[in-house]
Amino acid sequence: MMSQGKWDESSRALEETSMNVATILKLKGRDVLTARPDIPLMEIAALLGSHRIGCIVVVDEEGKVAGIVSERDIVRVVGSEGPEALKEPVETCMTKTVVACRESDTIDRLMSEMTSHRFRHMPVVERGRLVGLVSIGDVVKMRIAETEMEAAAMRQYIATG
Ligand code: AMP
Repeated sequence: MMSQGKWDESSRALEETSMNVATILKLKGRDVLTARPDIPLMEIAALLGSHRIGCIVVVDEEGKVAGIVSERDIVRVVGSEGPEALKEPVETCMTKTVVACRESDTIDRLMSEMTSHRFRHMPVVERGRLVGLVSIGDVVKMRIAETEMEAAAMRQYIATG
């Protein structure tokens, strides 16, 4: 049977290695593709395609987050208004109320925000400045790594009795 002392030690070790947004940014980097609000949607679509990404953060002249535009927004507007919509500035179809996260947020928190809002991207903002972007793919990768680490810690715990 596990002694309580050893159990506490083991769960403390897991807490120390628990991952948050800062961990993701350390691994993937802090580069975020941004665009100004007056850029035509056609250019946004070209950027999404050439960088093989799903969204772009729109920033104002001070670098503050003004909106977010994803491939879904472009598909929606072209579907309803036709290809002429691609000449419009991105500010006409971006989402203006952006849900951002902080470096200290946990992976679990991110997963629940993305699930409840039904989106796959979250800009990371610290003191009003954009410092990174996390996608659902990053979150899933990190969650898998975390689960593998937990399993390894448990195996080691069992092996050392
Ligand atoms: P996505 O699943 O990220 O491709 O985006 C789906 C929809 O949610 C699109 O309308 C996006 O503009 C919007 N969206 C994506 N990320 C966010 C976010 N962090 N905050 C607010 N809206 C978002």
